[in-house]
Amino acid sequence: MTPLTYFRAADRADALARIESGARLLGGGTNLVDLLRQNVEQASELVDVSRLGGAISETDSGGLLIDASVRNAALAADPRVRRHYPVLARALLAGASAQIRNMATVGGNILQRTRCPYFYDVDGARCNKRQPGAGCDALDGFNRYHAILGASDQCVATHPSDMCVALAMLDAVVHLAGPGGDRSVPLTDFHVLPDATPDVETVLKPGELITAVELPPPSAATTNADYRKVRDRSSYAFALISVAGGLALADGRVTQVRIALGGLAARPWRATRAEAALVGAAPTPDACLAAIREELAGARPLSGNGFKIDLVERTTVAVLTALAGAHP
Ligand SMILES: Cc1cc2nc3c(=O)[nH]c(=O)nc-3n(C[C@H](O)[C@H](O)[C@H](O)COP(=O)(O)OP(=O)(O)OC[C@H]3O[C@@H](n4cnc5c(N)ncnc54)[C@H](O)[C@@H]3O)c2cc1C
Repeated sequence: MTPLTYFRAADRADALARIESGARLLGGGTNLVDLLRQNVEQASELVDVSRLGGAISETDSGGLLIDASVRNAALAADPRVRRHYPVLARALLAGASAQIRNMATVGGNILQRTRCPYFYDVDGARCNKRQPGAGCDALDGFNRYHAILGASDQCVATHPSDMCVALAMLDAVVHLAGPGGDRSVPLTDFHVLPDATPDVETVLKPGELITAVELPPPSAATTNADYRKVRDRSSYAFALISVAGGLALADGRVTQVRIALGGLAARPWRATRAEAALVGAAPTPDACLAAIREELAGARPLSGNGFKIDLVERTTVAVLTALAGAHP
């Protein structure tokens, strides 16, 4: 790790000015510091934004506005989140460890990098994300954790965040500030698929920072909701696949359904085809299976991760049928 200078941002304007002059943003540092230590990323100046704001406030429309600096542990423990957005609390608590969640921020979690081992292997592996044009050793290598949806012949890495899968399911909106002013982007549009440029991972423009994440008002399908993560060991491991699901019924038929999938793509995958197939149907195991199969019709498994199709099908069916059973 090369020596660097640390600044603590006094306010948002100070942070923006320091990014403009070349500094990198630091949240809790739980991903970035590892990347710098391993020489995957480089920086000579860091500007710490983890102490800017820190509030979770109610919006006029009945939703929640969460400052980017809110720690993952604080967000999971917030009584409003636990009551109205339980899927978010569960996703957060399924990630990392208590110590890491105490440090990690909302902004940093959204922008954490992939866990593809070839991305981190600076001296031994080819990676188009780290070094455009170098090649991708995951394509024919160890690709158990890699993408089956939306990947390209340049990159098959997945986005590793649990929190983002819940945010995608909740229709969260990411608020940004930058030299061009403030703007907002739906979380489902924030991360981009790799195509020919896997080094471009989000729509964040140079000089911008994440200021907050907004959750729309809760609904029946966001309150009757769950997050299920399947991994190689039961704690302190990234998802092989995960499912955030929410369901509302009337007279035994689906009136609202939300499904987002993790561990399958370079972004949290909102399963809109499966949702459309289920609205108006009785949520039987067969109907849920048919719906998720429609979503996965375009899946392209790699040599080591074909099991993900069966796993995500079974997990989606289990989540949705349990929610149907729990529906008041
Ligand atoms: C051992 C281990 C296990 C883990 N397991 C899981 C897991 O199971 N599930 C999971 O979801 N995560 C897991 N994580 C990842 C963890 O959730 C992330 O490291 C964490 O969320 C990153 O947040 P941070 O605030 O520390 O980000 P940082 O490391 O500080 O920053 C990450 C990136 O975000 C940028 N950034 C930070 N704040 C902002 C901002 N406001 N605006 C714009 N850019 C910003 C930084 O410049 C950097 O590029 C694990 C991490 C470790 C080390």
